[in-house]
Amino acid sequence: LMTILNPKIECAPPEVRDRWRLKKLKEGLNRVAVSNSFYRRKWHQAGLSVDDVRQLADLALLPLTEKAEFIADQAENPIFGTNLTEPLANYRRYHQTTGTTGQSLKWLDSEEGWKWRTRCAAMAMAAAGVTEHDIIFFPFSFSPHSAFWGLFDGGQMLGAMVIAGGGWSTEQRINSILGNGVTVLACTPTYALHMARVALEKGHDLAQSPIRILLHSGEPGALVPHIRKRIEKAFGARPFDYLGMTEVGAHSFLCEARVDALHVIESEFIAEVIDPATNRVLPEGQMGELVLTNLGRWASPAIRFRTGDMVVLKSVLCDCGRTFRILEGGVLGRRDQMIIIRGINVFPEMIGEVVGPLLKEGEEWQVVLENDGAQDSVTVNLELQGATEKAEDIVKEAARLCKVNLELTVKVSAVPPGSIDRKGAKILRFKDMRAT
Ligand SMILES: [Zn+2]
Repeated sequence: LMTILNPKIECAPPEVRDRWRLKKLKEGLNRVAVSNSFYRRKWHQAGLSVDDVRQLADLALLPLTEKAEFIADQAENPIFGTNLTEPLANYRRYHQTTGTTGQSLKWLDSEEGWKWRTRCAAMAMAAAGVTEHDIIFFPFSFSPHSAFWGLFDGGQMLGAMVIAGGGWSTEQRINSILGNGVTVLACTPTYALHMARVALEKGHDLAQSPIRILLHSGEPGALVPHIRKRIEKAFGARPFDYLGMTEVGAHSFLCEARVDALHVIESEFIAEVIDPATNRVLPEGQMGELVLTNLGRWASPAIRFRTGDMVVLKSVLCDCGRTFRILEGGVLGRRDQMIIIRGINVFPEMIGEVVGPLLKEGEEWQVVLENDGAQDSVTVNLELQGATEKAEDIVKEAARLCKVNLELTVKVSAVPPGSIDRKGAKILRFKDMRAT
């Protein structure tokens, strides 16, 4: 029994969807061309006009947009930059990125834009099976960071009940989950597993709770087999991943029919995959960088936005009935984190998938890339707990699995608990020491 928020739209034949998308695209580009000085400037510099976009494929004529351009624009045009199609008084919501690399980016939404973003989130949640009967708990701090705000409002759009668990300790949150009959948990997979561990320490087994669905963002959970299995075991529930970015909104989700790929919300986005070196659009099925144009947030649009995420986009006949294409394996890695050693392309996440199953709850991995002047080398740090003799076996096995599965020779080191770099609750999975 699969839930689809709007079957007419989500299961539409691709050629019908393309007609709708072209109409939305043209209307939106025309609005932007009139009053959005950020994109007017970009298109003028490229010698292009929106009238050059006559069919969907013409979108590729327009210049790409980098996050760095938005940041530079806000620095040059305080406070909120010039990617604003409407007067400032029309904006309702403020969010900002955490700024893990350099400056943070502010993002404003009009009422229309935020409603659109909420609908995308609701579509993703319905695909996971969330209904008006659910009670959703959000165990995260409600900051200007946009993560989970979309789900908070999307849940209400579906008629579900939402509980904001910000500013509470993990124990208070567990008590609220158990005391209120919570059925859906929305957080990172790392925090979900941490929560389950703390609950067990306090004598509560969350697998016995009414929780039936977990909604994950920020890092892959459901798409990484060993993490999915851990979450299923700890909660007796099914995890779902969805992808979202401050600059574009929630754009891809896992449906109930799969565990290996995410559907792109193609009714609301135009997805392209480019070769990050040449910026050329690649044919379907080839790995490249995901570029997104959103079709419902014209007050603060992202047009041909480079996500930095490396993906494989494919057409499939999915058992769920949706015609949205899929990102096979989700996000395979970041464009700037691709490791190329002796002609082999690897992402840190792939190493994590190989060594992850060797680790126990609370043990972590990190990939460090170095250069000795002649060539790049990879070190995998494993933060292990327990006996040293056992650590030696795990280290050897991790190196062997990398060789067998990825054809990659890596140095594996066991490091003491707590020694891998963290940024808040997030583990720094990749450390690039090549430039330093
Ligand atoms: Zn599907």
